[in-house]
Amino acid sequence: MTYLIEGETGEWEVVIGLEVHAQITSKAKLFSGAATEFGAEPNSQVSLVDAAMPGMLPVINKICIEQAVRTGLGINAQINLHSVFERKNYFYPDLPQGYQISQFLEPIVGEGIITLDMPEGPRDIGVERLHMEQDAGKSLHDQDPKRTFIDLNRSGVALMEIVSKPDLRSPEEAGAYIRKLRAILRYLGTCDGNMEQGSLRCDANVSVRPVGETELRTRAEIKNINSVRFVMAAIEHEAQRQIDVYEDGGEVVQETRLYDANKDETRSMRSKEEAHDYRYFPDPDLLPIDLTQEFVDEIKAGLPELPDAKKQRFIDHFGVAVDDAATLVADKDTADYFEAMAEASDPKLAANWVIHELFAVLNKDGLSISESPVSSENLGKLVALIADDTISGRIAKDVFEKMVRDGDDPAQIVADKGLKQITDTGEIETMIDQLIADNPDQAQQYRDGNTKVAGWFVGQMMKASQGKANPQMVNELLKKKLG
Ligand code: MN
Repeated sequence: MTYLIEGETGEWEVVIGLEVHAQITSKAKLFSGAATEFGAEPNSQVSLVDAAMPGMLPVINKICIEQAVRTGLGINAQINLHSVFERKNYFYPDLPQGYQISQFLEPIVGEGIITLDMPEGPRDIGVERLHMEQDAGKSLHDQDPKRTFIDLNRSGVALMEIVSKPDLRSPEEAGAYIRKLRAILRYLGTCDGNMEQGSLRCDANVSVRPVGETELRTRAEIKNINSVRFVMAAIEHEAQRQIDVYEDGGEVVQETRLYDANKDETRSMRSKEEAHDYRYFPDPDLLPIDLTQEFVDEIKAGLPELPDAKKQRFIDHFGVAVDDAATLVADKDTADYFEAMAEASDPKLAANWVIHELFAVLNKDGLSISESPVSSENLGKLVALIADDTISGRIAKDVFEKMVRDGDDPAQIVADKGLKQITDTGEIETMIDQLIADNPDQAQQYRDGNTKVAGWFVGQMMKASQGKANPQMVNELLKKKLG
């Protein structure tokens, strides 16, 4: 499905590229041994290196290099055995060095691919590069009416900046890209993907062009968006703003804009005339990173199964539908939960129960799957009870409700409440005979060709059996008896 915006002069296409800053999962910072844990007392995790005291020298943290390589391999990207740290010079009050150590001309990871699962099919989005860099500290403006405080805990924390090609064409694709990238990072264990805590931040480059035009027009960059929903909303608004500018005869200027979630608008932060000249140059305090192919191969050999591979396995091995498989693997905990129950029951039915019944319960209470009131073992047992006809699907919903409430074992609930399905032909036949004898008019209507009455009989049978009669057997026997 193509996403186009109808303007007064015709249809417009939106072109989006995303720059994601992902905090590398590592106990220590990129160039110092200071801790990185979230939520610590301000300035309690700052080494002399992070505070940029004179004479301090950065020392590269090997774990961070491994994590960057692991991530590169996870997005099917070129790993550059030779890469270089450079100084990006700009003044920020919360960056005491006066420059950021980053990678520029020679990043550690080159081009890669991230495949999105869109409703209309898979979409490959190009990744331009992935480089390592340090994070800055944080200015606190709300602690005092006159003064600004600085918390340097984040200063020097390792980041991966992952830059996409301008391949995205709609807010939905941009949202799917972030969710997919986040899932891959979480599977790999290279970033926790927590956007509320700032472990994953997104800048969006947005431009528009009339349908049919092949050149890219001037883009605006929307900085530091911290939720998937806001990224999508910001893109939608920025695209509409640019279309309005063009249609009013104006020109879009290259600039950095901020998205204001409260007002749901973007506004200018700084224009190109004020753009920084970063004066990049190789950091003389750090040697280039030279990796061996063995080092890379070893990391590759240790990669976990990633979402795309897991999805394919769920389809091939368990026979799960493509959409359901994509939903299940989007979150690793959900995939693990499903897999634990799929082995012990009917996999397709298991997928259905996770995606519909369980998700409904979790969404209602705002729970993650690891907080589920029903264990995968018990839900697997419930599905097995349906699959082997011990209980009907309708009764299963009642049993499930009780499982959610009390966390009980489904087999126990079925036994205690006598919910076992009636599959004894003789017993069902006796009940049907009685029903027909009690309702001769309805039986006659059926024989006169009004087959819809069969539905009424089924309803009566389920009522009489308290939902326990096997519906399929009831249907068959009813037709036989009435006909
Ligand atoms: Mn950056």
